[in-house]
Amino acid sequence: MAIRLTGRKKDTGKFDFSQFLSGIPAKDYVFQDAAYEEQIQAAARLLSEADAVVVGAGAGLSAAAGLTYGGKRFTDNFKEFIEKYGSMNMKDMYSAGFYPFPTEEAKWGYWSKHAYLNRIEPDTLPLYQSVYKLVKEKPYFVLTTNVDHQFWKAGFADEAIFATQGDYGKIQCKKGCHPKTYDAVELFVQMNQSRKDCLVPSYMVPEYPVCGGNMAMHLRCDQYFVEDEHWHQAAEQYVSFLEEHRKDRVALLELGVGFNTPTIIRFPFEQMMRKNENWSLIRLNLKEAFVPESFGKRAAGIGADIEKSLCDIIKGVEERHSLAAK
Ligand SMILES: [Zn+2]
Repeated sequence: MAIRLTGRKKDTGKFDFSQFLSGIPAKDYVFQDAAYEEQIQAAARLLSEADAVVVGAGAGLSAAAGLTYGGKRFTDNFKEFIEKYGSMNMKDMYSAGFYPFPTEEAKWGYWSKHAYLNRIEPDTLPLYQSVYKLVKEKPYFVLTTNVDHQFWKAGFADEAIFATQGDYGKIQCKKGCHPKTYDAVELFVQMNQSRKDCLVPSYMVPEYPVCGGNMAMHLRCDQYFVEDEHWHQAAEQYVSFLEEHRKDRVALLELGVGFNTPTIIRFPFEQMMRKNENWSLIRLNLKEAFVPESFGKRAAGIGADIEKSLCDIIKGVEERHSLAAK
């Protein structure tokens, strides 16, 4: 029972990623009642035995890594925005992004700050480095809904990363009239230095070079999200990777993927598990680590702090290696 991996659309020549999405949750989720240590050992075994690893990373990973969107990190950094727009509208960095900023100067005033804080300023974070350490010796591929560029910063190869939902460092036409994205890192650095009273100077507001219209963050938040050439390339590389390793023992390492956007990583991973009996699933998630009962010993669901779990799994893998070497 192998997963079918021919996704090329005949009409456009573009790969149709949508058929790798799944909206179907498993019917047999069970809470893992095995002890933490037992789960860690199971995860270490599955990863050691794997021929290849597919990392699936969601918001929970970046939050665990330190890029939290609410609380003190928000109130400290967005004080002037909270004062200007009101605390009812500025609750955290997630909801603030949906505020209907009245002008382009205001919109970019907010987003340049957001992008600077979450994408531009942070160096590679230790938790992402741990993920890299865990998988780098094997063929790997990263599928992520995160848009903060941390996988690149940690050293993962560009051709092995598919970030499906965009990038805080890029902008696009607001109406998606042309399938191109633009690097905005330098622009955001300048905006961040020039912002006054939450607004950027008018001359800094970007206009789309093709239609002359407004630009927007390159984030999947409406139907105008641009899937550019690099996006399609990454989608194809992801599918090629799955196809290449179809008969191998592939470990699906799922990190911080909850039920907000389960259709891109969580449910598809479960579907691949049902279709490929050599594959395994290691699910790390603070509160939603349950895995389908039918996966039996092929799956481990670890409901604890991701940083601690990863650290312990790495230790477990190293112990197995040193035992094997003796
Ligand atoms: Zn346009």
